[in-house]
Amino acid sequence: MSEHTTGGPALPQERRLVTSIPGPKSQELQRRKSASVPTGVGTTLPVYTVAAGGGVIVDVDDNSLIDFGSGIAVTTVGNSSPRVAAAVAEQAQAFTHTCFMVTPYDAYVRVAEALNRLTPGTHDKRTVLFNSGAEAVENAVKIARTHTKRQAVVVFDHAYHGRTNLTMAMTSKNMPYKSGFGPFASEVYRAPLSYPYRDHGVDGPTAARRAIDTIEKQIGADNLAALVIEPIQGEGGFIVPADGFLGTLVEWCRANGVVFVADEVQTGFARTGEMFACDHEGVVPDLIVTAKGIAGGLPLSAVTGRAEIMDAPHVGGLGGTYGGNPIACAAALAVIETIEQDGLVDRARNIGKTMVERLQSFGDARIGDIRGRGAMIAVELVKTGTTEPDADLTKAVAAAAHQQGLVVLTCGTYGNVLRFLPPLSMPDHLLVEGLDVLEQIFKDLR
Ligand SMILES: *Cc1c(COP(=O)(O)O)cnc(C)c1O
Repeated sequence: MSEHTTGGPALPQERRLVTSIPGPKSQELQRRKSASVPTGVGTTLPVYTVAAGGGVIVDVDDNSLIDFGSGIAVTTVGNSSPRVAAAVAEQAQAFTHTCFMVTPYDAYVRVAEALNRLTPGTHDKRTVLFNSGAEAVENAVKIARTHTKRQAVVVFDHAYHGRTNLTMAMTSKNMPYKSGFGPFASEVYRAPLSYPYRDHGVDGPTAARRAIDTIEKQIGADNLAALVIEPIQGEGGFIVPADGFLGTLVEWCRANGVVFVADEVQTGFARTGEMFACDHEGVVPDLIVTAKGIAGGLPLSAVTGRAEIMDAPHVGGLGGTYGGNPIACAAALAVIETIEQDGLVDRARNIGKTMVERLQSFGDARIGDIRGRGAMIAVELVKTGTTEPDADLTKAVAAAAHQQGLVVLTCGTYGNVLRFLPPLSMPDHLLVEGLDVLEQIFKDLR
């Protein structure tokens, strides 16, 4: 792939360190941040961005960092991707907002049509647009409840669904997402996941039956409106369930009138080497929730699903002031065009292959597991010879990577997973250089 087909402004595609990280201008901005923004808003890497595109982020001190984070799986097509930037500029000059519920516009309808076409399954579908992933998850639950006239929602161990009140209840991890923020919404129940690295030998269907048993005993299918699951967990640690786990759950949901909701907020839009992660296993969800990679960084999210379920809420029951904002919709259409025209689904697969082969070649005993799909790859770090999580090593690797101009993120319930989410616009030489940096860090941190 040539370097700038999908990759933002013509920024030199290089790792360039001209100061220590963070540099003096970033440090000054971080001081101002501390005095003006609450402590609750954390910073992974306090370098202040002035430009980004292709595979790099350039900071105020003129350092150029390799981006293995994509702003948490958002800039999948690249930062300021040319089609997105042009579409946003054009739409901003035409009109910025009317509220789709007041006087509608065609960009919203076109995004709905595109999602109805692209999401798994050929059934009749409808799509409603919102602003954030959490807002879309909440609305999927509203829709499932009105359709089923039931209330309970089941989610899984290690799940992440957002930070609003209902989605905090659905999210698994206490710190930092929930601690002190309760009381949480009721009628949310948790079932065991398939986590191949940590439940050796339990195959997908068996793990699904274990979850179903919990659901039947503790909730009762008749009370359950929706089962909500990330087909590959994001914040929970890029956990890919064993084959047949999702399929068995879908079958059980169908047989019991439970709405199967795939939260593809992190996995959607080519990230995993299919347009949606459900496609890897031929899983067809009743409702699919999307956000992050959908609009190149503009705030947009969606719930897409079976027409008869989506049409359950009464007129006026769904919406919001900004949901499906015209600029975000223009960006989404440009993102979809970029994915399709530039072959980014294949690109994600190639990136995944490069990353996995290289990470395996490290031969490092502290890497307990390498997993993920496409350009969504993680390593789970453990104490040598055990499966005991090593969060300290994970922090040290991430900190060293940041020092050397490589943006990486951590995740996982035990804080011991390093995750890699490069933009699909990243040229090969930067991908390889990022992996070189990581390999050296693993050697140095002995
Ligand atoms: C990020 C994320 C969310 C929440 O999205 P926001 O836009 O931050 O509200 C929900 N589900 C999954 C799987 C996510 O990764």
